[in-house]
Amino acid sequence: MNLTVRTLWIGTGLLLAGWAHAHEASWNRPRQPFRIYGNSWYVGTQGLSAILITSPQGHVLIDGTLEGKAAQIEANIRALGFRLCDIKWILNSHAHADHAGAIARLARDSGATVAASAAGAKALRLGGNDPDDPQFGMAPRYPAVTPVEVVADDAAVQVGPIAVVAHYTPGHTPGSTSWTWRSCEGGRCLTLAYVDSLTALGRHGFRYRDEPARVAGFRQTFAMVASLPCDILITPHPEASGFMQRVAARDREHAPDALIDAGACRAYAAVAEPRFEERLAKELQGARHAGN
Ligand SMILES: [Zn+2]
Repeated sequence: MNLTVRTLWIGTGLLLAGWAHAHEASWNRPRQPFRIYGNSWYVGTQGLSAILITSPQGHVLIDGTLEGKAAQIEANIRALGFRLCDIKWILNSHAHADHAGAIARLARDSGATVAASAAGAKALRLGGNDPDDPQFGMAPRYPAVTPVEVVADDAAVQVGPIAVVAHYTPGHTPGSTSWTWRSCEGGRCLTLAYVDSLTALGRHGFRYRDEPARVAGFRQTFAMVASLPCDILITPHPEASGFMQRVAARDREHAPDALIDAGACRAYAAVAEPRFEERLAKELQGARHAGN
């Protein structure tokens, strides 16, 4: 599993390294919606996650994908037999165009309330144009989301029996948030963890090491992610965690537990952390070469 994750991770790093690749085919490729586990459903595109958690009292949607994909996400939700107007909350992993671009429209069409971490809410209201974002000036803008409610760290967003807990995991962006909740199937309840991107990317000249609080926050995030309750790991970019391969194995081999791996969050953090430290070391080398 480690090796697979590492290989895929490098792919994702390259993919995200340049927004020139923002129209990467898999981001736009339609994907038939499917059940992840219990009342948790995948309604995103092939390469960008959107997760629907359903209950008779209303639903929660996490992430919206790209601005131009709103209609596709809505069609996926309807194809599963759910109504847009039953979505009560829309949550976000981080406020970049590939995860938040469609949120303004999805909120308008459903009437749902949008909620995010404090820093995430600020970036959503700015339509991704957030000066505190390491990718400020490089990441594309998208329709601003207003209003956005703030969810405190460790607080839960609730609808009927659903409780989705926010875990602030800053690093990739200041507002990066991971979400966990319980879903049950035939009396067996598992924790699903939607863990945000852990890649350290920035505009030209941006250095994490110039801001010790950012470095400390990112290191804390790795420890936090490694310790999350995590029976099924899902990531905003499915390929960052080999998610679609695990889904394919489940369906192809009739292996109902192929998605379940209590060590998945730990493995995800273990791959990302050395890459961050590597970047910090390179930033230092760059400073030496520049004579400062
Ligand atoms: Zn991003």
